[in-house]
Amino acid sequence: MNIHEYQAKELLKKFGVAVPDGIPAMTVEEAVAAAGKLPGPLYVVKAQIHAGGRGAGHFTDNPTGKGGVRLCKTADDVKAAAEAMLGKVLVTKQTGAEGKEVQRLYVTDGVDIEKEYYCSVLLDRATSRVTFMVSTEGGMDIEEVAEHSPEKIIKVSVDTASGFSGFHARKLAFGLGLSGAQVKSASKFFANLYQAFIALDASIVEINPMILVGDEVMALDAKMNFDENALFRHPDVAALRDETEEDANEKIAKDNELSYVRLDGNIGCMVNGAGLAMATMDIIKLYGGEPANFLDVGGGATAERVTVAFKIILSDPNVKGILVNIFGGIMKCDVIAQGVIAAAKEVSLSVPLVVRLEGTNVEQGKDLLNNSGLPIIAADNLADAAQKVVDATKKAQEAA
Ligand code: ADP
Ligand code: MG
Repeated sequence: MNIHEYQAKELLKKFGVAVPDGIPAMTVEEAVAAAGKLPGPLYVVKAQIHAGGRGAGHFTDNPTGKGGVRLCKTADDVKAAAEAMLGKVLVTKQTGAEGKEVQRLYVTDGVDIEKEYYCSVLLDRATSRVTFMVSTEGGMDIEEVAEHSPEKIIKVSVDTASGFSGFHARKLAFGLGLSGAQVKSASKFFANLYQAFIALDASIVEINPMILVGDEVMALDAKMNFDENALFRHPDVAALRDETEEDANEKIAKDNELSYVRLDGNIGCMVNGAGLAMATMDIIKLYGGEPANFLDVGGGATAERVTVAFKIILSDPNVKGILVNIFGGIMKCDVIAQGVIAAAKEVSLSVPLVVRLEGTNVEQGKDLLNNSGLPIIAADNLADAAQKVVDATKKAQEAA
């Protein structure tokens, strides 16, 4: 689960991580009032969306205008910036072309930046350790730095059993070329960041940029992501969820205990079991198609849940064909068939549907589908199903 920059900074502050002063604002009036409470003379109005690259982004109503991070000198500037952002759609490298509507702002103290750095803390699954990544290339996408100048990324991994120590801190600070009082401030910063990461069950904390103000190290931007499986331990963090930032279908899926992730392709997939879902996506690609989603309906799905799943797939306008691939073990094939038929009728299915059923009650399932009056293309095995759906989808796409 993602949270907003201002929320991440409020959390980090509790762990002693230095951040510039700031106040969230939901309206233009609140933004102006917030500036009145900050010391000045420089204010920064920042759009709060669950995506980075705001500064270099643009608003759809003013493509050549300023982005979602604006330096302001007066209360009038703050007012103008807030008016230009609230309710408007901000497009950044991370939002995709459709952008995200700005509903919240963060008004912060403008600070005198000596230098910008990159710093992130994340869980390294390969080593089961917590890894710090820092770089002198602050403000840049770390992926770009990794590609073009990987030698500029310093990695330090921490064994959670022994924890974070002065040794780790010094390695990071010296790696960034810091000296004297800067090392002391940075060491405190890294240690506090580590405590926050562990205590909050975060999966990533990214500070880009981390900055030097005089000799003090601060977080100028903050992105935090949390392990959903641990959220029950942190009701205060769970309460920070902003559903308006999440894909509506992913939310409906979550509420119905379906695992759904939207992708860029045009073949909708409904599969039971995460492994089979992955294999289905792979084989679609093997035959030259592109999956529109990952969707695991789970082992104990009911006809209702299958209906919801089917509707989610169909609500994606990119979907030009659907493959239902079910191995009925715990899940019975006739239940799947009922769900597919109910949903297809309800939404008046207009794209080709390929179904491959195997397992418990497969004959009942096939009978139900054959007698449903729906234009279903039956498939005998996984390869056959993938080929058929790729072909049918291509034809449907060309006809559209
Ligand atoms: P994003 O990464 O979404 O573009 P950031 O918070 O990283 O947003 O801000 C982008 C840039 O704007 C920073 O790299 C920094 O140069 C400038 N900036 C942001 N906040 C401040 C601030 N409080 N004072 C001065 N400059 C700032
Ligand atoms: Mg940033």
